[in-house]
Amino acid sequence: MKVFITKRIPDTGIQFLRNKGYEVVIRDRGGLISAEEIVHGIRDFDGMISMLSDPIGADVLAEVKKCRIIANYAVGTNNIDIKTAKKLGITVTNTPDVLTEATAELAMTLLLTASRRVVAGDRFAREGNFQGWEPLLFLGKGLDGKTVGVVGMGRIGRVFARMVSGFKAHVIYHSRTKQDVSYPLVDFDTLLKESDFISLHLPLALESRHMFTEHQFNKMKNGVVFINTARGPIVREKDLVAALNSGKISFAGLDVYEFEPEITEELKKMDNVVLLPHIGSATEKARNHMAILAARNIDAVLKGEAPLTAVQVE
Ligand code: NAP
Repeated sequence: MKVFITKRIPDTGIQFLRNKGYEVVIRDRGGLISAEEIVHGIRDFDGMISMLSDPIGADVLAEVKKCRIIANYAVGTNNIDIKTAKKLGITVTNTPDVLTEATAELAMTLLLTASRRVVAGDRFAREGNFQGWEPLLFLGKGLDGKTVGVVGMGRIGRVFARMVSGFKAHVIYHSRTKQDVSYPLVDFDTLLKESDFISLHLPLALESRHMFTEHQFNKMKNGVVFINTARGPIVREKDLVAALNSGKISFAGLDVYEFEPEITEELKKMDNVVLLPHIGSATEKARNHMAILAARNIDAVLKGEAPLTAVQVE
């Protein structure tokens, strides 16, 4: 049986499939994949490992001939029309858990890097501007005694909450349902009003698209720190730029963008924003485990067994 992988993933996953006798074809080049290439994968292969940047909508799925499983190499599956896939009998899987620590760690890194002005300070030092210790040089914001609002208290949100708690911050969270954690669940408006730091850990779905616009930013404390490692379109990026310009948001750390891979030009010019190229899960350990998990899902479904981590239709 044949498996198509839309970008090169760690060898662990590829070898796993080859050792089981699968023919593996890898689209081994950078850049975004075209609709024709996805259709090729879906029409001519038994299974496909897709990336979060591969749009797999109803139009593409209509071309399915023999593909029985799409194993997304990510935990988020907002790039796939899950309902249509289910109707067509295609199993969709993702890679939960194995990337949780890595992604929470990156959110933590962005929070500290943005609020302690690490990137701007580094640039200042490299450019030869450091003339000696100064009482007012690069003052930032620390976590000690501050309130951190976690939006989406799932796997990653919980680990992130545990991490910021270690910095003596007080955590509140908002999710649609109460989670089994020891932090207070608050309504969305309360989280916006009471948080000194806000970090997003919810999936992108119809109801979370543009959950953060000018309206929500206006409700936040002046000088709030805003971190997004979830998905870009949860935030209306032009409103985020305005909130950063007005000082409503003092610092932001972003791993994801509304029009990814495009990044709003104004953000690139701002010293109070740290920008990363969607590397939340990018540790060797997480990416290796994601590769194995995707491969095991493919093998299970193509052997007629239950997948390990199937995505359910909400
Ligand atoms: P998860 O365990 O499913 O957690 C998501 C949480 O969000 C759940 O607790 C859910 O609880 C909550 N939620 C869903 N819709 C919500 C809404 N409208 N308002 C408030 N809360 C909402 O998922 P996870 O593994 O933690 O991953 C979270 C997201 O992180 C992924 O979907 C992905 O997009 C993103 N991610 C990014 C990277 C990266 O590279 N930057 C890496 C990994 C993951 P309720 O259902 O009770 O609301």
